[in-house]
Amino acid sequence: MAERLRLMCVHAHPDDESSKGAPVMAKYVDEGHDVLVVSCTGGERGDVLNPKLADDPHILRDLAQVRRDEMRRAQEILGVQHSWLGFVDSGLPEGDPLPPLPEGCFALEPVEVTAEALVREIRRFRPHVMTTYDENGGYPHPDHIMCHTVSMAAFEAAGDPTAYPNAGKPWQPLKIYYNQTFSRGRVVAFHEALTALGEESPYAAWLENWDPAREREVTTRIRCDEWFDRRDRALLAHATQVDPDGNFFKVSREEQARVWPWEDYEAGLSYIPIAEGEDDLFAGIPADVTEADALATSGTLTIAHDGRKERTA
Ligand SMILES: [Zn+2]
Repeated sequence: MAERLRLMCVHAHPDDESSKGAPVMAKYVDEGHDVLVVSCTGGERGDVLNPKLADDPHILRDLAQVRRDEMRRAQEILGVQHSWLGFVDSGLPEGDPLPPLPEGCFALEPVEVTAEALVREIRRFRPHVMTTYDENGGYPHPDHIMCHTVSMAAFEAAGDPTAYPNAGKPWQPLKIYYNQTFSRGRVVAFHEALTALGEESPYAAWLENWDPAREREVTTRIRCDEWFDRRDRALLAHATQVDPDGNFFKVSREEQARVWPWEDYEAGLSYIPIAEGEDDLFAGIPADVTEADALATSGTLTIAHDGRKERTA
């Protein structure tokens, strides 16, 4: 039995964990590691995106509770632990000009407040590795951008004994990665697979509008097609958020395993060197958990890889 290393995956809303990185989480769970998903918000301001459930009065009466129930089912399917950070969904502002964000929402909270909540979770769970989104959120939702901001602030503060002294004993996670599930390589592979089958590709417009300035560096590519089934079942557990006939399921699982059996990640900050062609989020961390824990509390770590960038979107 492998030693139980610990992975914390920070996400903005319930359902984000199932669309970004889910097969990799299930793989690590099956390999004996501990995986914790942290949802920053409850997804209270999401819309019902599944047309079959759009007018369901039970759902419309209490969407927040429905989403908590959906998250519990997804958690069970993936086999992960889960905690709510307890902030309120900011909603996706739409219109021109954009309306102001609602008072009290996650994206408007001072970063000292949101970071302290996450530092407390980090010091409790003591992850060796974390994941979050890149500085542009991976998708321009204010909660996704805040998810990045709070994750990076908490990653940097959690090991500092002078930061948030009332939020637990210092613990320094060794690396933090950005989910890059929708890397260009994968979108191209899916587009070509559909085109070859003579099917309409929802990715054509996406690729036409691709901004080369926003190309991401994939440092870490993890083979996980064995767990695509678990990912899809977890996604479908978020029944209000996922249209079972939608784009997520356009390319069959078999075809996905053939053309793109991986999940992509980009190293954000790391105290461990990131080797070329890395294929494991725990790469370079001692497999002996006592040794790995000693490293995270040594207080003598120096940054080995800094992939941070300025926000462009
Ligand atoms: Zn989201």
